[in-house]
Amino acid sequence: MKSLNKRPILDGHNDTLQAFYLPNQTQRSFFERTDTGHIDLPRAKLGGLGGGFFSIFIAAPLPANMDPGEGIGKNHQVNTDGVMKPVEFSYAHEMTNRGIETLFDLEAESEGGLKVVRTVKEVQSAFEEDRLAAIIHFEGAEAIEPTLDSLDGFYAKGLRSIGIAWSRPNVFGYGVDLRIQGTPDQGPGLTQAGKELVKACNRLGILIDLSHLNEKGFWDVEKISLSPLVATHSCVHALSPSPRNLTDRQLDAIGASGGVVGINFCVRFLRRDGEEIPETPLSELVRHFRYVAERIGVDHVAIGSDFDGATILNEIGDVTGLPKLMESLHHSGFDEEALTGISFKNWFRVLSATWK
Ligand SMILES: [Zn+2]
Repeated sequence: MKSLNKRPILDGHNDTLQAFYLPNQTQRSFFERTDTGHIDLPRAKLGGLGGGFFSIFIAAPLPANMDPGEGIGKNHQVNTDGVMKPVEFSYAHEMTNRGIETLFDLEAESEGGLKVVRTVKEVQSAFEEDRLAAIIHFEGAEAIEPTLDSLDGFYAKGLRSIGIAWSRPNVFGYGVDLRIQGTPDQGPGLTQAGKELVKACNRLGILIDLSHLNEKGFWDVEKISLSPLVATHSCVHALSPSPRNLTDRQLDAIGASGGVVGINFCVRFLRRDGEEIPETPLSELVRHFRYVAERIGVDHVAIGSDFDGATILNEIGDVTGLPKLMESLHHSGFDEEALTGISFKNWFRVLSATWK
């Protein structure tokens, strides 16, 4: 367990794969260090990243009148009422398969540097062998039909974490919108298909991610799910009133379930005014860690960076800034044991209780 002494970080969320399967992305290599994006293999090693949830996100189709240079990931196709348009199942299914293939291609090309993991044991082994551990996560369940027919197939491929809805409605439930300020209590709860999806995930041992889900959906999962509650990349609503952040009641429920909150580095979810200001000081991020630890206990705090999916603090910059965060957390009062929990142990506990 030599490398575990170095306290590798298991990160609850990154959008790095998007750079390699979505069209119109800045060309870069995952295996060479560049300044583009937040994560590549050399920078991951420098930052002490042991692994993380690699998100597969369904970008909305690019409309004819949009400049491709703006990047497909930024196209959220907002309707006039502020709610994003759903995406078609067949389109989502195809794009998801492309995302999965891309991850396996990177794994093959990495010659052992990157390992797709399906069990806690595999995460541990990857840490010990100094391979970056990748957990397959779906950010929204659009690639799964309401009958759930393809869920077992995706599980067999390696799917181990699902956000039921991203910030747009689908057949399973409703995500929160991306307005700067507001409550997560918007829209109805899970559909019948959504409730069935929760049960199926419990049966298979797939983690259910509550980040992006609206509040009524959250409480439906809380009622139905047998697993610890998890928000892989969210912050504290009391400190930054974004609909994407967790209310005190939600935090309490996550703590009571034995779950975990991966704290998001996105500046908009950290600041009280929700402004996208990269110069926001690191202390703002530390405040969210402290709040969750003080309210529900340090065993329920983890990291959920949102690297490659958000504007993060300049002081962190990219994945190589993780040691700086750990140092700041230490200075703010987290002791060695707490930092080990935040780095990976809290995730290990939750994954052990969730996965089969
Ligand atoms: Zn997200």
